[in-house]
Amino acid sequence: MKFEIACRTLGSMDISRRVASLKPSVTIAFMNRAKTMKAAGKDVLSFAAGEPDFDTPQPIKDAAIKAMQAGQTKYMPTFGDPETRSVLAKKLREENCIPGLTGDDITISSGGKHSLFNLCQCLFDDVKPGEQPMEAVIPVPAWVSYAPLVELAGGKVVEVPTTVETGFKASAAQIKAAITPRTRLLILNSPSNPCGTMYSPDELKAIGRVCAEAAASIAPNLIILSDELYEKITYGGIPHFSIGSMPEVAERTITMNGLSKAYGMTGWRIGYTGMPGAFGRKFTQAMSAYQGQQTTNLPAFLYPAIRTAILECGPQVEVMRQAFAKRAELINRLLGTLPGVTTARATGAFYAFPNVSAHFGKTSKGGRVIKSAMDMSEALLEENLVAFVPGEDFGGCGGQHVRISFACSEKQIEAGIGRFGEFLNGLR
Ligand code: GLU
Repeated sequence: MKFEIACRTLGSMDISRRVASLKPSVTIAFMNRAKTMKAAGKDVLSFAAGEPDFDTPQPIKDAAIKAMQAGQTKYMPTFGDPETRSVLAKKLREENCIPGLTGDDITISSGGKHSLFNLCQCLFDDVKPGEQPMEAVIPVPAWVSYAPLVELAGGKVVEVPTTVETGFKASAAQIKAAITPRTRLLILNSPSNPCGTMYSPDELKAIGRVCAEAAASIAPNLIILSDELYEKITYGGIPHFSIGSMPEVAERTITMNGLSKAYGMTGWRIGYTGMPGAFGRKFTQAMSAYQGQQTTNLPAFLYPAIRTAILECGPQVEVMRQAFAKRAELINRLLGTLPGVTTARATGAFYAFPNVSAHFGKTSKGGRVIKSAMDMSEALLEENLVAFVPGEDFGGCGGQHVRISFACSEKQIEAGIGRFGEFLNGLR
């Protein structure tokens, strides 16, 4: 009897408030939905996942297989072997011009999202009664995981709104106005997920100067997080620039990168950060303590694969970049032919983020009233079997947009945008 009563109460137990209020990732949700529909035999064309369709280059696979066969299958130091950390530090020093970095300033985690999660935990605190939370300034629309992971760590998000007309870029003046004594983090992401646009070096330098001034006056705790996951995928004539290379802010900048996008390695889950200087060392040690109580190291046989990717696979990355450039040209052109769709030319990453709000208020062929990007994405998926990601969760004006990941063949892009056109033309 007592046992039955004990069992009955199980259903009414709650999970933690922290997780109960966590917003699931919409990118992952639509990606999974498209996969499930495909598995059920539906001819879905998916543009949901931010995932290159290219396989991991063979030398990278070979390095992991060789290491595994040689018995590299045991625990490693939390951020892996010194050799791999040194290779990443050298890459950031030489390619990204970030001064003074050594292997000891590198953290390696299970994907960019894991790096982001851990660094938020290291930079934000739970708010005590009577305290104001520290803030993360984020130009929006921005990747769906920034805000939830900042909030989960106890931070508060301050959105800096941008629009399609300005290529979704925040100006230095906007950033300056958003920084307060409580600002802990400014998150920059160029090339941008979901916008597919890039800041020019001059625009980033102006933002860097504003941050240096604010840090010297009102915001001494300010750290810049430069998310450079899409650094290698550029094709619009704008060179990639690492804000961490500016001497004024070098020791206040965490440069975050990973192997997922550039090397076709999304499933391997490899992300890393680099931060030079005295606080950088403190930060890296904090990340080590945190990850040491959590996942410890990546699978041991991945470290030689990381070195092979960084040191040997430039030519393969270039082949993929050229393919993305052609796809971007195609999608930029095709989107320009659609009625009521405004878009900023994609110049980096593999996303288009068109404004589709001119169609809100209309009804689809299947009888769905389209009041939002979510309604449109639902209807498009159900009726025309095309998966985009609705823009609401990217923040700011995102609710008027849909995200199209064009990391797929030109044939699929033509077919998918064709179906999207039919869908739009069918709205009444
Ligand atoms: N970053 C990719 C995307 O935006 C992968 C999914 C995710 O982690 O959000 O689609």
